[in-house]
Amino acid sequence: MTIATKELSLLTRTDQKFVESLFKRYYLEKADTVYIPERINEREFGYFPFEEKTMIRHLYIDSPDKLREFLIKNNPLHVYHSAAFYKYPSAPMEEKEWMGAELAFDIDADHLKTLCRREHDFKVCSKCFTAYPNQADRCSKCDGVLIDIEWVCESCLEAAKQETIKLIDFLEGDLGFKKIRITFSGNRGYHIVIMDEEVLELGQLERKEIVDYITGTGISLRVMGLIEDPKKDKATKISGPDISDPGWRGRIARASIELAIRSNATELSELLSIDYMLAQKYVDVLRRHSEEWSERCAWDTLPRSVVALLGKAAANYASAKIDVVVTSDIHRLIRLANTLNGKSGLLAKTIKLNELEDFDPFLQATVLPYDRTVEVRVLRAPRFKILGEEFGPYEDIVIRLPVAVATFLIAKNVATLLKPATN
Ligand SMILES: [Zn+2]
Ligand SMILES: [Zn+2]
Repeated sequence: MTIATKELSLLTRTDQKFVESLFKRYYLEKADTVYIPERINEREFGYFPFEEKTMIRHLYIDSPDKLREFLIKNNPLHVYHSAAFYKYPSAPMEEKEWMGAELAFDIDADHLKTLCRREHDFKVCSKCFTAYPNQADRCSKCDGVLIDIEWVCESCLEAAKQETIKLIDFLEGDLGFKKIRITFSGNRGYHIVIMDEEVLELGQLERKEIVDYITGTGISLRVMGLIEDPKKDKATKISGPDISDPGWRGRIARASIELAIRSNATELSELLSIDYMLAQKYVDVLRRHSEEWSERCAWDTLPRSVVALLGKAAANYASAKIDVVVTSDIHRLIRLANTLNGKSGLLAKTIKLNELEDFDPFLQATVLPYDRTVEVRVLRAPRFKILGEEFGPYEDIVIRLPVAVATFLIAKNVATLLKPATN
């Protein structure tokens, strides 16, 4: 989540005006559905206008009505507010007087090693609009700069959602937080914000400790009995963690069972960053014992070396893959919920805790017009689904698409408008 400067965009002037007018109409009609941050008059606001490359920040908005007016008037491509509360929100950073901050988490498909990325991410020349594979670094036709196209697919979003579910289990189960706000980022992930009183005044180091706990940083497999203590007798029976144990012990036990039953060499080699052939050897051992493992944590059935490895893989698997910088930053700006994301045209939609499991971004966060169509030239797009309808794969074609779909492709830098919108 880089928000200091807007990334390079291929939008032509016409494309930009088109997207801008759609955003404008959206805010005119829906400004009253935007999320209103608590203690709004103590927050800093910031936004990217359509025309500017840098963010306009240190803004002060003192009421929900003013926030709605602000959205209609400025029609932002992206809009943010501080997780922090300040005495003087509009003052320069060093004079704001920090009074506390919500605890923010960011889960982004960028940080997850989804295998589909290799298939769907590519590059485009900023000058001549030619597609290139990810490894290319300059346009061979015109020597133009190549722009990364970070596609977002259902698998990426599903992986991000699973990490979010894991994170929430840590936050509710282990840490006991109650006021949890979840938002789809509007692009490749989810934002989770804790608003409980106890977290508001936590400093950077205390927040870092929470990050370490959730990511399993510094966990000792030796203390858990999964790595042999050389001082003890080698014949000591392994007394590893069990599924009913609290906190990380139970998490490692449950993850170990899941991994042992699945015994997948690709997954194991990814989790441990080891060679596939080596992972295959461990998987063979696990397979021989998978029946015992389906009933209990059968640590005693495995050789010491496999126990240590399974423990390590389980710790990695059980951790939540959060963006660690976001959470420890006490001055962080976060995207204003229920506003449009300029990288997709999708809504950064708030989600109730009990709705997360079934949340489908391409279904529930598509809010731009779907009944009108527009003609675009699509450079390249993998197969995707919006509002239940399938599109693509596309390779350099001219096609008429619903406005919401065309906007998604234009915002992703893979399509350009052919004719002005019809009504
Ligand atoms: Zn070029
Ligand atoms: Zn993907």
